[in-house]
Amino acid sequence: MMKSKNTQHLNIIKIEYFKFFLTISILLLSSCQNETTLNQINTVQGSIKSSELGVSLTHEHIMSNFGKDITESLNYDTIELFNQVIPYLKQLKSYGVNSIFDCTTEYFGRRVDLLKTISDSTGIQIITNTGIYGAANDRYVPEFVYDASAESISEIWIDEFENGIEGTKIRPGFIKLAFDNKALPSNIDKKLFKSGILTHLKTGLTLAVHNANNVEAVKYQIELLEAYNIHPSAWIWTHANKVEDDTILIDLATKGAWISLDGIKESNTEEYIKRIRHFKQENLLNKILLSHDGNGYPKGGKIRKFHALFENLIPEMLVSGFTDNDIHQIMVENPKEAFGIRIRKN
Ligand SMILES: [Zn+2]
Repeated sequence: MMKSKNTQHLNIIKIEYFKFFLTISILLLSSCQNETTLNQINTVQGSIKSSELGVSLTHEHIMSNFGKDITESLNYDTIELFNQVIPYLKQLKSYGVNSIFDCTTEYFGRRVDLLKTISDSTGIQIITNTGIYGAANDRYVPEFVYDASAESISEIWIDEFENGIEGTKIRPGFIKLAFDNKALPSNIDKKLFKSGILTHLKTGLTLAVHNANNVEAVKYQIELLEAYNIHPSAWIWTHANKVEDDTILIDLATKGAWISLDGIKESNTEEYIKRIRHFKQENLLNKILLSHDGNGYPKGGKIRKFHALFENLIPEMLVSGFTDNDIHQIMVENPKEAFGIRIRKN
């Protein structure tokens, strides 16, 4: 009798323990699933974990037809393109580059099918974008946008994210937008930004916005992000290197925004070191992104190179007091954090 009572008691403990174990397992599993969605990056070859990004160039153009008419934006001499770009990307790979964020938008030369071939042939992970480029005096804004609502434009971008671009399975890894360099942002640029916000809220894609030194445009965007309760870390100030005074960059980085210093070339190494040091002094190395705004095939012309970072800037940083950890933070951790797909509410 005693024995069976004990056994019964033991069984109850076992069941309770099992239930406890089950709950913990479910909790762990759901947090793992959460992690996975948080850490995803879309490349032209499919989704990867952001930990697989590695050393990344966050603002380059594998190729573009920027400068040509919008009607010619899809036309490339593909043999010539491949002959020029593929060996160059292989050279970049020898510098340790794993991933490149391609900032060529639809209407000035995005061709995801060609990006896929280039990625397959080089082993470089390429991340393409959705969005519309509103700078360059609206040269690359298609007609339909003027009459469309911000919501209906965002539906096109959300559809690319959910179903793939132009009948392929290739999904965008970020939203690319651009503001003209006007004192006050134009209605079309404002509308496109609103479409970007709506797309972010649905997809979790980060907004990379070409602003250069247009502080008024930046203020407008920050206000709209706030109005939609989106954290500034969902937003990248592209070409922020064009701003002369770092104060506003430091201020926005402190609030969580990403500062893209993306005009690196051999001749401005010293200037970049000075700026990056400024961010380091403010403990904000974790908010900057470095790149060249290079172009592997600009309108069919010669490569606008994108390796000064490895030939000049990084070696110079390492003899100027920066550590391997600093470089790792900027080149690996920051891209991972900036582009990891997630909705960033305040
Ligand atoms: Zn660019």
